[in-house]
Amino acid sequence: MKPLCDLHTHTVASGHAYSTLLENVHMAAMRGLKVYGHSDHARLMPGTTDEIYFTNFKVIPREIEGVRILHGIEANILDELGTIDVSQKLYHKLDYIIASLHSPTFKSLGKEMNTQTLLRVMDNPYVKIIGHPDDDRYPLDIEAIAKAASEKKVVLELNNGSLNPLSTRVNGKANIIKMLEACKKYDTMILMGTDAHICFEVGDFEASLQLLKEVNFPKELVINFELSRLNMVYNQ
Ligand SMILES: [Zn+2]
Ligand SMILES: [Zn+2]
Repeated sequence: MKPLCDLHTHTVASGHAYSTLLENVHMAAMRGLKVYGHSDHARLMPGTTDEIYFTNFKVIPREIEGVRILHGIEANILDELGTIDVSQKLYHKLDYIIASLHSPTFKSLGKEMNTQTLLRVMDNPYVKIIGHPDDDRYPLDIEAIAKAASEKKVVLELNNGSLNPLSTRVNGKANIIKMLEACKKYDTMILMGTDAHICFEVGDFEASLQLLKEVNFPKELVINFELSRLNMVYNQ
């Protein structure tokens, strides 16, 4: 099956990514994606853009080169209460929010508290995607997370970037395999995201697709294969 959307991508606005929105969309079109989402880092990531960037998406056409455009953000999880660096005002302007643990904005609290933190993030009704829960720098009880995600109708990300041997995340592949096994068990939906930081990565899900095959992951649990499943990650 073919992935139809990529919602985890960064543009130059993130400060450590290297392509423009149009370069990314062009690559999405070349790779046959139907939906492209941009999700630049929220304001507390060093070097990223200010919140005002995320308030003016109305100027961006909803379709470019035949690709539908969605407006998102990758929020930083800040504390054990699950606070994220996205204001209430923005919640209503964005199509979706990915919430992730990042080293500049979150220090590991140990497996139990890291897990509690993600469970609390899932209680935020505007957060429908947990980004890259696959990093040994943040040990997690992935069983508990997959179970809660299924119950709370939150989606876990299969991050293609974590499968890159050059990734700074630790043990990505082994952790993703554990995550996929837990998702199978609890019928938890996953969303593949490339986490592209340059246009060449947009829509390139090769490593993820290979892994899905290796673990015989059910296609019905993958958002990217069926556009109607995108309803699960939208802020209504
Ligand atoms: Zn980044
Ligand atoms: Zn991230």
